[in-house]
Amino acid sequence: MKTIVGLEIHVQLATTTKLFCGCSTDYRDDEPNTHCCPICLGLPGALPRLNRKAVEYGLRVAKALDMEVPEESEFARKNYFYPDLPKAYQVTQYDKPLAVAGTVEIEDDEGHEKIVRITRVHLEEDPGRLVHVAGGSKYSLVDYNRSGIPLLEIVTEPDMRSPQEARRFLNKLRTILEYLGVFDGDREGSLRVDANISLEGSVRVEVKNISSYKGVEKALTFEVTRQKNLLRRGQTVTRETRHFMEGRGITTSARSKEEERDYRYFPEPDLRPLRVAEWVAAIDLPELPVARKNRFVEQYGISLNHARTLTGDPKLADFYEEVAGVDPVLAATWVSDTLLGELNYRDMSIAAVPPGRIAELLGLLKEETITDAAGVQVLREMLDACARGKPCEMPAAIVKREGLGKATGGEFTPVVQAVIAANPQAVEDYRIGKKGALNFLVGQVMKETRGRADPRELGRIVSECIETGGV
Ligand SMILES: [Zn+2]
Repeated sequence: MKTIVGLEIHVQLATTTKLFCGCSTDYRDDEPNTHCCPICLGLPGALPRLNRKAVEYGLRVAKALDMEVPEESEFARKNYFYPDLPKAYQVTQYDKPLAVAGTVEIEDDEGHEKIVRITRVHLEEDPGRLVHVAGGSKYSLVDYNRSGIPLLEIVTEPDMRSPQEARRFLNKLRTILEYLGVFDGDREGSLRVDANISLEGSVRVEVKNISSYKGVEKALTFEVTRQKNLLRRGQTVTRETRHFMEGRGITTSARSKEEERDYRYFPEPDLRPLRVAEWVAAIDLPELPVARKNRFVEQYGISLNHARTLTGDPKLADFYEEVAGVDPVLAATWVSDTLLGELNYRDMSIAAVPPGRIAELLGLLKEETITDAAGVQVLREMLDACARGKPCEMPAAIVKREGLGKATGGEFTPVVQAVIAANPQAVEDYRIGKKGALNFLVGQVMKETRGRADPRELGRIVSECIETGGV
């Protein structure tokens, strides 16, 4: 049964002021209702003034997604009553959006490249926020600091075929938005998703207001199972809106009234139609993820997988370019395979790591002053210090202090002899041709010597010792 997924993504644009007034958008951690004025509070007679930067940001996205920008677009009023919406209408774009018909390239579940079509992008204002008072209070509070924050709504065609594809699409989109500098992904609530999902031949269900990528994948996975189970039992899927309960990982039916809402859209009389198609030519786009990925493969001779990982985050890609000079392939392997894993484990961001330290570590590895295993130990020492807010020690100093310098064969002979003597069964297995036995013996020596010896060299020494009867 084919799964069909389409997404609507609301992105908070990283402008410094709101969409229709001069109030600051830097409201997080501030007292409620301190970033408000008559315009974003919707007081009678207040007139909106469009933020030029928000339009420019919207057009940057349109250009990056290869979209058409029509001669004219238009703002409209979407009428509904809700306490977080002071005017009782939201200014958005309806039948004349900012841009239409774009594309984003992702990998499908088989690892092949595929295109997800973008239907439209449009600008709109964020409503305020309801704050539910803990402890069973009879009332809720309203904070209008968020009211009027510029949003870009990005709508896709139903081109995704699994929850995993949807997550990959969102990751890709987020990367593009970060490269464009129009979005701050670290801000809480800066990206919210509504997901449409259906199984082939059945009706569509909309899951509203999911606030993380993992949430999208989880909500969709839950829906696929729920809908399949209904159909298997001979029941039908109801066309409805559902809410995702992030904590419980399930979706629940929303009141069906929401379905029937008629928003009575009409053109916003206080704003003129937008004629900005000619601005697009003047927009200078930065190098985007796909181009950067291809350049990394070509310029540095690294694998496509490494290039993909490294360019998945502009900060990581910049970091890589700072340390690639030592040895591009070695740097790609260490940054994407080892460093990223160690950072994730400590919940640290790449911004916390000084590139100079990693370049020095790569130098030690390249010159074979230390082994890979010792390199990992040095890296862990450095990151542990960083994570505790301590100064990041130089790798060479750690190697010296901990005695991690690569040792020569002779230094290990006594350890090798002791290991051979202690494991007669493994020695016997090796003699009769069991390959694994050698790895076991080498592993024992590595353990005894804290990874300071090159495993290949050790393998040679161990087999020599056994064959020459050096025990
Ligand atoms: Zn305001």
